[in-house]
Amino acid sequence: MSNGLFIFSERLLLLIAILATLVIGGYAVWQQNQLEAELIAQDAAYSASTTKLKQDKQELQEQLSNVRDKVVSLNEKLEEAENELEDERERNNDLKEQVEEVTNSVGNLQKTVDTEPELLKKYSRTFFLSENYRPESLAQIDDEYLAEDESLTVDKRVWPYLEDLLADAQDDGINLLVTSAYRPFGQQASLNQRYTRTFGEGANQFSAQQGYSEHQLGTAVDFTTPNVNGKLTQEFANTNAFAWLQDNAHKYGFILSYPRGNQFYIFEPWHWRFVGEKLAEDLDDEGANFYEWSQRRIDTYRAEMFD
Ligand SMILES: [Zn+2]
Repeated sequence: MSNGLFIFSERLLLLIAILATLVIGGYAVWQQNQLEAELIAQDAAYSASTTKLKQDKQELQEQLSNVRDKVVSLNEKLEEAENELEDERERNNDLKEQVEEVTNSVGNLQKTVDTEPELLKKYSRTFFLSENYRPESLAQIDDEYLAEDESLTVDKRVWPYLEDLLADAQDDGINLLVTSAYRPFGQQASLNQRYTRTFGEGANQFSAQQGYSEHQLGTAVDFTTPNVNGKLTQEFANTNAFAWLQDNAHKYGFILSYPRGNQFYIFEPWHWRFVGEKLAEDLDDEGANFYEWSQRRIDTYRAEMFD
């Protein structure tokens, strides 16, 4: 091999080395450029998605805020509705109470209308019960409580009170009997004769007529007891039966129409009139006589006479 060929080979090798270096370097540069471009692209993508996320977040916050506003507004409306409901309830309750009040007063009014005014009237020298008055319905007094063998009746509404009174007296060992009760107008003449027989002419006749009015009502009864032989006599005032009546009759709604020492009529210890429990109790509490109270005051008890 010659020298020249060796040199050529050397140069060729150098050239190849240079070329290789150029190729490798060029590739590296190209690769770097590629990577940079990719980085820029990714940066741009990242920045874009960040912006999008920010927008999304803002939108979501707005929506959340709207929802919160709506919840607040709904809560307010709910509260308003609850308040209105409560108001409505109160109004309904008020109305209910008013309706109840009206119903009660209508009921009382009805009872007052249903209860005949005659039943609590005071009969006087100038005020007699109309001869046309008769109780709407009558009840028989049980035979065991009768002094004589004749059927007697009272206003049907009075009988439960009278029956309780008679039964309780019997339970207390008192032999209390009824000798007279409801008397229709037509019996007045015979009654007056009976009084005349008992008391003689004159002074007592007026009283008999008074008592007669109350008997025509069907709410008055004459009591007696075997101790006085079943008679209508002031001796009845000395019996256990009378003492029992004085202590207890008011609890059953009965009062003594003509007590001892009254300014109007003779003392009739046997004659008791039903006026209702409330009035009888109140008169007893005050130690008052029925005929002493004003008619106006007595009339206020009419609605509750049969309560
Ligand atoms: Zn009588």
